[in-house]
Amino acid sequence: MSLTAAKIKAFAGELGFNLCGITPARPSPTLRAYLRWIERGMQGGMSYMARVDRVRRRQNLREIMPSARSLILVGMDYHARFADEETLNDPARGRIAAYAWGLDYHKVMELRLEQFAERLADACGRAIQQKVYVDTGALLERSHAQQAGLGFIGKNSMLIHPRRGSSFFIGEIISSLEFDDYDEPHRETMCGTCARCLAACPTDAFPKPYVLDARRCISYHTIENKGWIDRELRDGFGNWIFGCDICMDVCPFQRFVSETEEVAFLPFDIDRVAPPLTDILMSTADSYRALFRRSPLERIKREQMVRNACVAAGNWRGERAIPHLIQLLYDESALVRGHAAWALWRTMGLDSSKLLTDLYRRDDDARVRDEVAALLG
Ligand code: SF4
Repeated sequence: MSLTAAKIKAFAGELGFNLCGITPARPSPTLRAYLRWIERGMQGGMSYMARVDRVRRRQNLREIMPSARSLILVGMDYHARFADEETLNDPARGRIAAYAWGLDYHKVMELRLEQFAERLADACGRAIQQKVYVDTGALLERSHAQQAGLGFIGKNSMLIHPRRGSSFFIGEIISSLEFDDYDEPHRETMCGTCARCLAACPTDAFPKPYVLDARRCISYHTIENKGWIDRELRDGFGNWIFGCDICMDVCPFQRFVSETEEVAFLPFDIDRVAPPLTDILMSTADSYRALFRRSPLERIKREQMVRNACVAAGNWRGERAIPHLIQLLYDESALVRGHAAWALWRTMGLDSSKLLTDLYRRDDDARVRDEVAALLG
């Protein structure tokens, strides 16, 4: 049986993908912009993004798979209307980016893409080579998705479908198949004079339109950064503890967002969406794992999450957090002790001086002492 692009898209729909496009396996048109971004160090601590082998693969898809001839890009909606804005913005709760409310999308999407690839191989009736990726491949996924007609890249650097917004996961199959009828690339941009996302970012993470400096991005810091969070940025984090949706939520194209039909992406509990900060502040490694089992939050350890919750607690300034923060001054992690000190200072002000002076005297970690010294002046 011959496999046409139309047939492939029908398979994609049957498997629950909401978008599908096919493009030749050519280098991405945003490759030069990506190389400039790396040169300027905007990937922050994500050193894997600048690794020579990964850059080479981004330059040429045949470095990933020598027989690569086309890319099949898919999108799957994840938006769920679960909590009202009041709950999400409650400073006593830590806010989680909407894409992480359900089960780990890597696993859900990967499994579905593997089924997709199997169907293609069966329908083809001859040996073909395929590789599936969700987020993890060394390829400029959004740019290839634009080339496959799935949407345009907005000034917030997200892929935006003009009638669906941005709340969908992207996945791809690199394939050895060739087609006669590839999709047309989407228009490069539809942002026009709008600049809402740039203005809304509380940490000024966009030095210019279409360029995101990860070193100032809440999402990068709460997920990828395993170390200290810059003091000057912490204020802007508000109650975000895992990812951030601000530049996406303010986008006018989000009014077209579609509700997901994929049950795996539906949260089953408010604690998967905006858990009380005190629950996280008092978590142990075991209780943290239980709280976020099978969710994308498993990607970060309790130490990182408690650090994030300390930043959110410092922005909340709620008295209920004080006993937990005091206890965290004795945590085995220096990262946690340092951020708890900051949160206590923000919550109690000068009343925390004695506690912080004690911490300064007894702590042998230089970063903790620096943090306390900066707070106490
Ligand atoms: Fe483009 Fe405006 Fe959306 Fe930003 S908020 S991505 S500028 S349309």
